[in-house]
Amino acid sequence: ESFNTAVEAASELNAFIVTTPEKALEAADAVDAARAKGEVLGSMAGVPIGMKDLFATDGVQTTAASHILEGFIPRYESTVSAKLWEAGCGMLGKLNLDQFAMGSSNETSYFGNVASPWRKEGTNAAMSPGGSSGGSSAAVAARIAPAATGTDTGGSIRQPAAFTGICGIKPTYGRCSRWGVVAFASSLDQAGPMARSVEDCAIMLGAMAGFDPKDSTSLDAPVPDWFGGLDADMRGKRVGIPKEYRMEGTDQAILDSWDKGAEWLRDAGAEIVEVSLPHTKYALPAYYIVAPAEASSNLARYDGVRYGLRDLPEGAGLQDMYAATRAAGFGDEVKRRVMLGTYVLSAGFYDAYYTQAMKVRTLVQRDFDAAFEQCDVILAPTTPTPSFPLNSLNDDPLTMYLNDVFAVPASLAGLPAMSVPATVTEDGLPLGLQIVGRAMDEQGVLNAGLAIE
Ligand code: GLN
Repeated sequence: ESFNTAVEAASELNAFIVTTPEKALEAADAVDAARAKGEVLGSMAGVPIGMKDLFATDGVQTTAASHILEGFIPRYESTVSAKLWEAGCGMLGKLNLDQFAMGSSNETSYFGNVASPWRKEGTNAAMSPGGSSGGSSAAVAARIAPAATGTDTGGSIRQPAAFTGICGIKPTYGRCSRWGVVAFASSLDQAGPMARSVEDCAIMLGAMAGFDPKDSTSLDAPVPDWFGGLDADMRGKRVGIPKEYRMEGTDQAILDSWDKGAEWLRDAGAEIVEVSLPHTKYALPAYYIVAPAEASSNLARYDGVRYGLRDLPEGAGLQDMYAATRAAGFGDEVKRRVMLGTYVLSAGFYDAYYTQAMKVRTLVQRDFDAAFEQCDVILAPTTPTPSFPLNSLNDDPLTMYLNDVFAVPASLAGLPAMSVPATVTEDGLPLGLQIVGRAMDEQGVLNAGLAIE
């Protein structure tokens, strides 16, 4: 019964592309049976979760929220989802997202936009839950699912978490296997948990992470007990405040929230120091070259032969089928990225754009290396603005891209980064703060998050 109430709420928000209540119940039954036999239970025994529809799920349609994958039913399970089932989770359904995880508002989905459960005080306009993991953020914020998976290429876990007042962590690149996750930009894509609390994120990340020989960039390192290691005592820790993040165009409420966060960490015993990340302003343009370049290559596989949609006009040849399938199957934002990507990789422009962006990426990484000589974690806003009404930025891709300005540097550097809810605006919208840590130091990130929470 409570599931049906939740489903109703979820359908108002359009958070799910498909629901699979029977899978959640099966997992609960399996836990009951295991408990009756006195077996050791998994770390997430019986917890019903939402699965971003970017993870391949055996026997359950997997679309990446694109028409081109509609009807695609994988015969394999992504490593991350398999690990979660092994830990005892059950699947409530596949969550809506921006098409191929390209977007910051969840409006690029073929299956319609997702609405945030939040409203600005005194207004009734539906707000964006952020993106690309907007089905995940909306479902967790609306208490439809206690937790959900997300993926983050340039902010897609952190920005939606910030917009909806929940927690989300993108671990160090390589911590979670990319095997079976629909690829967007492979050198940046990372899976991670989205949940109500830092504690829940620590438990869930523990279940998701681990070396996987099927992913050539998987990190071959043991998974620490992050939940067991949680400690909000910040004494002896230095927290860096990057001065270049004080950017024009950032809301005053966000700057105030940032100051508050620093104060809370100081109260928890941390020393606050100013650090410099001088190449910050080049990170976003570099990201919007590297990510589309990789996407244009990754998305070449959707040709009408191997997956989902096939558009074969009467009397058409192979090339015509490719063209017709891709024209009908990809949404506008996906096409924009493919065109951007093929352009920056083309013989005449490769050096001017792609090579240059890769150099910037190295400089951004070096900025962080230098900053982490002076501090243990970095505190920054997650986004430059709170959530915005749906349909308000659709005609303005550049402003939309700017939403990720604080998120992409950590992505380019492959560092663990988390968003935790901090304050609310005067009109009642949640604001998140971001903590970035050294490579492999998820624990430091989670602990600072706990001190803020
Ligand atoms: N919003 C960013 C983009 O559109 C990031 C997306 C993501 O992290 N998947 O590329």
